[in-house]
Amino acid sequence: MKFFTAFRKKSPWILHYNAGSCNGCDIEILAALGPKFDLERFGVINTGNPKQSDIFLVTGPVTYRSRERLVELYSQIPEPKVVIAVGSCTATGGVFRGMYNVEDGIDQYIPVDVYVPGCASTPQLIIDAIVKALEILETKSKEIEKPFKLFGAIAMVGNKLSRLNMATRVKHDEI
Ligand code: SF4
Repeated sequence: MKFFTAFRKKSPWILHYNAGSCNGCDIEILAALGPKFDLERFGVINTGNPKQSDIFLVTGPVTYRSRERLVELYSQIPEPKVVIAVGSCTATGGVFRGMYNVEDGIDQYIPVDVYVPGCASTPQLIIDAIVKALEILETKSKEIEKPFKLFGAIAMVGNKLSRLNMATRVKHDEI
């Protein structure tokens, strides 16, 4: 698990989904990934596959037509995952708030870890949010590892598989 955590931190893959935005924030995300800000040099790759993603970047106020796909994509991203809501309309509905065909914000459907302000947001803020997302990803990875730690390490002792408690493990390491 530590192996995957290290790779995830060095090279998080993102899934970008437009849930009804005006494209303003989507263009800023592309600018963050493009040659000027070059987020990709840190190993951040925009993948089209939710099953290979770590970070879900969402723009838009969530329209009635996009909400099912939003939830479906979220459910397909494996744990641990981080959701970033980019732009004010993703957080609250923004300029679209109260319109007949929008849901006024993403958090009515999926949990959000990082909110990026602005209408439109900026590449610098989006990069900051991804850096924050890396910290959250690391914390979530450690949380997932905990249940395994509860059972202790398992190793061969003599001819049998045995569970080593922490005291035994320290002793084992010292030998
Ligand atoms: S926050 Fe503003 S610029 Fe960004 S998608 Fe919404 S309306 Fe467009």
